[in-house]
Amino acid sequence: MPTTPFDGIIAIDGPSGSGKSSVSRRLATELGAACLDTGAMYRAVTLAVMRSGVSHSDAATIMKVVEGTRFEFGTHPDDRYTRIDDVNVDTEIRGAEVTAHVSAVSGVPEVRQHLIKLQRDIIAAASAIVVEGRDIAEVVAPHADLKVYLTADPAERARRRSGQNGADIATTAADIQRRDTADSKTTRPHDAAPGAVVVDTTHLDLEQVLTVLFELLAQRNNA
Ligand code: C5P
Repeated sequence: MPTTPFDGIIAIDGPSGSGKSSVSRRLATELGAACLDTGAMYRAVTLAVMRSGVSHSDAATIMKVVEGTRFEFGTHPDDRYTRIDDVNVDTEIRGAEVTAHVSAVSGVPEVRQHLIKLQRDIIAAASAIVVEGRDIAEVVAPHADLKVYLTADPAERARRRSGQNGADIATTAADIQRRDTADSKTTRPHDAAPGAVVVDTTHLDLEQVLTVLFELLAQRNNA
């Protein structure tokens, strides 16, 4: 566990099922830092776009929907929330429908520009923050103090995700593969950004991953 207070930015990138969310939240709690889930931001925009019935290829109208919607993203690790126009949407944004459409909406360049700016504003306002996503180390916060790429074997990622969403492992594995392929047009779900440390979580539990990350932070402090 950390011995010195942490001020700065930790970028945690990785594909779905790599353990990003639980690791980021616990790390933020231990460090007394804020915690930003950028996947939830893309999911919330996707839900708003789906509700409005706009085509995924109509960037101008999508941006009108985004600009006319009030999104709120709670960044306390014990109280992370996603709200659209004051209503909590955390369950709905992680459902199958949003998951099926999120890669298409997050592939719209105007959506990415808008959310990356918002992410940078949230990061700039925090003294210490853990940011999870797929393009954090490379695009959103290349100046991050520690960059980590979490990964795991595809079979293990599918097993974890299926435990969370209740779908069978084969369906979940196919869904993850489809999403990784679609996401690789805009981000790099399959490999680490320059300067990121790869942590393979296939055979590690949450506490073991945290131990690795605290070692990396200690090395950085001693460098
Ligand atoms: O992490 P999560 O699975 O919730 O991310 C949902 C989707 O949001 C990803 O599949 C990807 O399409 C998009 N995303 C992104 N850039 C990020 C985070 C998520 O494009 N930084």
